[in-house]
Amino acid sequence: MSGKLYVISGPSGCGKSTVIHAVMARYPNLQFSVSATTRPIRPGETDGKDYFFVTREQFDAMLEKDELLEHAEYVGNCYGTPEAPLQSALDRGIDVLLDIEPQGALQVRKKRPDATLLFLAPPSMEVLRERLEGRGDTSPELIEKRLKQAHWELQQAAHYDHIIINDNVQSAAEQILAILTDRT
Ligand code: 5GP
Repeated sequence: MSGKLYVISGPSGCGKSTVIHAVMARYPNLQFSVSATTRPIRPGETDGKDYFFVTREQFDAMLEKDELLEHAEYVGNCYGTPEAPLQSALDRGIDVLLDIEPQGALQVRKKRPDATLLFLAPPSMEVLRERLEGRGDTSPELIEKRLKQAHWELQQAAHYDHIIINDNVQSAAEQILAILTDRT
């Protein structure tokens, strides 16, 4: 039986990567789809594990060869999902999780109608602002940009199959695990 495709979106600062780690630790039959991006690598990130960090030319070449299932521009950088590794995992019966923003998620929905779309929302815009400010690695200007982006992203939640409020990591992870293990 082929694996299932899951997409998770949620604004920057909503705690998505923490929740994804909690889910992956408890659901081994899940492969994280490593995206290609033109944004610079951040401290603590590993090329090939968190992202494939590529130049704009390399990204454009992937697009030209039709190697990306979906792609989008986010705050000035390009992001895209390589299709071949994802397809190979699905063919081996492994479920695949994409952590992508809503423009990409809606492209996946069109191309792969079987995909399940999950939206992780912060409890409120105030909490989101606090979390972004608490990170300490982002300028006030970038925080405003991300909050504006978050506002738009939250409006897209209506197009998703499930909306999960991240007021607590464990409970958000539990809700996602329940969706992943539901084969009815
Ligand atoms: P970050 O730069 O903070 O890692 O990610 C910024 C945004 O890009 C996040 O919302 C993340 O989900 C999204 N993103 C990461 N990879 C992809 C991708 O391959 N395609 C799309 N459409 N969005 C992505």
